[in-house]
Amino acid sequence: MSYKDFEEYNIQVTDDVTDRYKKIIEDLGENTERDGLLKTPERAAKAMQFLTQGYHQDPVEILKSAMFKESYNEMVIVKDIELYSLCEHHILPFFGKAHIAYIPNGHIVGLSKLPRIVDVFARRLQVQERLTEQILDCINDTLKPQGVAVVIEASHMCMMMRGVQKQNSVTTTSGFRGQFEKIETRNEFLKLIGK
Ligand SMILES: [Zn+2]
Repeated sequence: MSYKDFEEYNIQVTDDVTDRYKKIIEDLGENTERDGLLKTPERAAKAMQFLTQGYHQDPVEILKSAMFKESYNEMVIVKDIELYSLCEHHILPFFGKAHIAYIPNGHIVGLSKLPRIVDVFARRLQVQERLTEQILDCINDTLKPQGVAVVIEASHMCMMMRGVQKQNSVTTTSGFRGQFEKIETRNEFLKLIGK
């Protein structure tokens, strides 16, 4: 086998979270000895560790690992980046798309690194507004481009399943630095992502 993808979990954390999930499921009125639920606390514990793995990853390192000297100085756009995160108020998912653009200033970054840093920040307890700012600041401070723009469009399960039950509402957040603070540059970007 030339390639093997594997998941590794901290046993102590998994055991602790598993015990607590068992208690939560019981407190909610379920029987954790029921056949279908026997392994659920452990599966949930592992799922949550996966979904919050961003706490243990360094987005600056990820960007720095693939920065290249390059004189290209036109807008670079990666759009429709799939995004899955957890709202920190309800620990329910929010999901959608991120669109990122930057204008290089002597360095470009490997294109696959932009979705990677979206994941690093999304796989934490988040609010969409902070997620947008963190991606923006990370690219701005690390790559030091002439400008950077981030737009996130997401649906929030805490709005759709509970609360106001607005099934089709999409929340849009955006942030702009440098050249993108100029209205023409910003509009060009928004047009290119279809906004
Ligand atoms: Zn929420």
